[in-house]
Amino acid sequence: MRHRASIQDLGLVLAVVLVAGFLFLEIEIFVHEDTATDAEKTLALNEVMILGTLLSLGMLLFSWRRLREQKSETRRRAAAEQEARQLASQDVLTGLPNRRKFNDCLSAAIQAPPGSGAAHALIMLDLNGFKQVNDVHGHGAGDEVLILVAQRLQKAAREGDLIARLGGDEFAIVSQHLAGPEAATGIALRVIDALTSPVVIKGVRHQVGAALGVCMFPFEGADAQEVMRRADVALYKAKADEKSALRFFDEVMDRHVRERAQLERELRTAIANHDIRPEFQPLIELKSRQVVGFEALARWTHPSLGEIPPDRFIPIAEDSGLIQELSDQLLRQACQTARQWPDGVTLAFNISPVQLRDRQLGLRVLGILASTGLAPHRLEIEITESALVRDLDGAKEVLGALRDAGVRIALDDFGTGYSSLYHLRNFKIDKIKIDRSFVESMGAEEESSEIVSALVGLGRGLGLTITAEGIEDLAQEEDLLARGCELGQGHLFSRAVSGTDTAAFFPGSTAERGLSG
Ligand code: C2E
Ligand code: CA
Ligand code: CA
Repeated sequence: MRHRASIQDLGLVLAVVLVAGFLFLEIEIFVHEDTATDAEKTLALNEVMILGTLLSLGMLLFSWRRLREQKSETRRRAAAEQEARQLASQDVLTGLPNRRKFNDCLSAAIQAPPGSGAAHALIMLDLNGFKQVNDVHGHGAGDEVLILVAQRLQKAAREGDLIARLGGDEFAIVSQHLAGPEAATGIALRVIDALTSPVVIKGVRHQVGAALGVCMFPFEGADAQEVMRRADVALYKAKADEKSALRFFDEVMDRHVRERAQLERELRTAIANHDIRPEFQPLIELKSRQVVGFEALARWTHPSLGEIPPDRFIPIAEDSGLIQELSDQLLRQACQTARQWPDGVTLAFNISPVQLRDRQLGLRVLGILASTGLAPHRLEIEITESALVRDLDGAKEVLGALRDAGVRIALDDFGTGYSSLYHLRNFKIDKIKIDRSFVESMGAEEESSEIVSALVGLGRGLGLTITAEGIEDLAQEEDLLARGCELGQGHLFSRAVSGTDTAAFFPGSTAERGLSG
């Protein structure tokens, strides 16, 4: 296009040069030819005038063309700049505004406070199960999911709301001038609703829900950084909560998150210093009151907070990637202690669900057994049912390798999770541990006693050993014995004791000690 224009320009210039040359010649004739008649002179003068007019017209045309071309060049440049600006503020995959645009928008919203009684809201959103789509179906499917999610978010939000993709499966919505938290809840619920139905890609249905964290501003945060931090805190809580996908920021929540962050730092140091140790709670054969094994339970004595229960620090270790190191340390120490026990006495060790995702777990456990010299048949791994259900194949692989080496597998907290005969059969479980909650309510609720009887019957039918947890009094022990339960564990017999103190449970040992109760 531009090429053709310059050829045309060249033609025009040539024509002008030719006309100018001809005009020059005519003037020559007019000036020098004394012999020319008056009529000839008038004719030449007319020609000069015509040619002059033509020349002026040519020049005019030329200037007009140049002007037009310059204008279109300016327009083209402006469009290119606009496109570049747009690209810099747009997420290439979904076409939504990107993080940069989001930052600008959030700052602008903070600069423009809402009227009295109104508020702005920042909603942070994180997809559930997106990683699985990527891992299982590939990045192509993952990309398509993101594109469809972006479209659904646009439909769910109000007109004028900013919906941005911040990266990965993280999105944000800035909603301005809302009547209050109820209005923000309305948008959030519409978003949750929009993502409820599965996304179908090439015939495969992908279930991608989302967790949402909301911060209302300006009253919950005066600057962009604080608003984002608070919405993130709320999102974090929403993700941790299996019942509700939506959370608003609040001060109590903030305190919890800060305390948790502090505890995580201290846990890291405690693990590095080997300050966390196993204690051992005996497992008793009810009929004979003989100690047949011990369950290792993690103990952490915090310098200022005192004893921190494992129910509190194990989840932190899981979330912060510290669980593997902690668990290896504890297992090594526990195996060293267990080696001192009589031959038939077993060591029960808890493995958390997160650890089962690690395909190297089996190898590492066997490595620790080999290096500490504890025979595999003396180790019993305790896992919960939910761990199995979450990743059936992973659990099968890891537990299979351990079982092949002679390690036994016990199903912990039995009856509280997704108890299913399928799991009992398919995982070749050796033992079930009836959850403390059933034992606790046995005296008060007939139903619990019936459940215990049913669980014992089920276990026996499948050839499994049955342990009851949390036995605190003699009546419970007698009841359990009568219902056919063989092994028990609980405060009636002993709480967890230090490694050194385990020696006291074996006859003939110097520090011999009987069972209480
Ligand atoms: P769990 O595996 O169900 O462990 C049994 C819990 O019941 C222990 O609590 C134990 O002290 C407590 N208990 C035992 N007998 C009685 C009783 O008669 N009455 C009452 N009320 N409680 C009794 P603990 O030590 O606080 O451990 C809590 C949970 O923490 C454990 O539950 C286990 O899931 C987890 N845990 C402990 N140590 C480890 C570990 O080394 N690794 C992993 N992954 N988890 C661990
Ligand atoms: Ca256990
Ligand atoms: Ca248990």
